[in-house]
Amino acid sequence: MKTSTFRIVPLPTEVAEEARHVAESGAADHAVIKVDSPIGYPCRHCLRWAQPGERVILFSYTSIPAGHPYSETGPIFVHAEPCKRYSTTSEYPADFRIGRVLRAYDANYNMIDAEVVNGREPEEVIEKLFQISKIAFVDARSVSRGCFTFRIQRA
Ligand SMILES: [Zn+2]
Repeated sequence: MKTSTFRIVPLPTEVAEEARHVAESGAADHAVIKVDSPIGYPCRHCLRWAQPGERVILFSYTSIPAGHPYSETGPIFVHAEPCKRYSTTSEYPADFRIGRVLRAYDANYNMIDAEVVNGREPEEVIEKLFQISKIAFVDARSVSRGCFTFRIQRA
């Protein structure tokens, strides 16, 4: 098997735990939602779809830091209950092989390129993007809602 050229970067555990802590305090900007669809609520920590009956926290996350033209803060979900951080980081997460757009950035957070993965192998799209030497990382986002899902770095 070919060695992966990329590394999946799920949401840091401390960010998920902080969101759970803040949600428990009843903060208005951390909504607790009961999941009602099997493919509507992607958890950014375990990189799986939260399942009906589970609860998720909806809060704002800064994926591209302030102070840059492409700065971006937007809504993401994490499981309300502790979950295991996605660990098979050399493999593209199976739950998100469709419905994602891959946005490629340079080291200064400028967007260089973007590709929709629907109907294509995401690994091939990532490999193609990383052939552009100035691309430092790639963010996977929802193709419909635009929400940040996970980051992909060079291996
Ligand atoms: Zn989770």
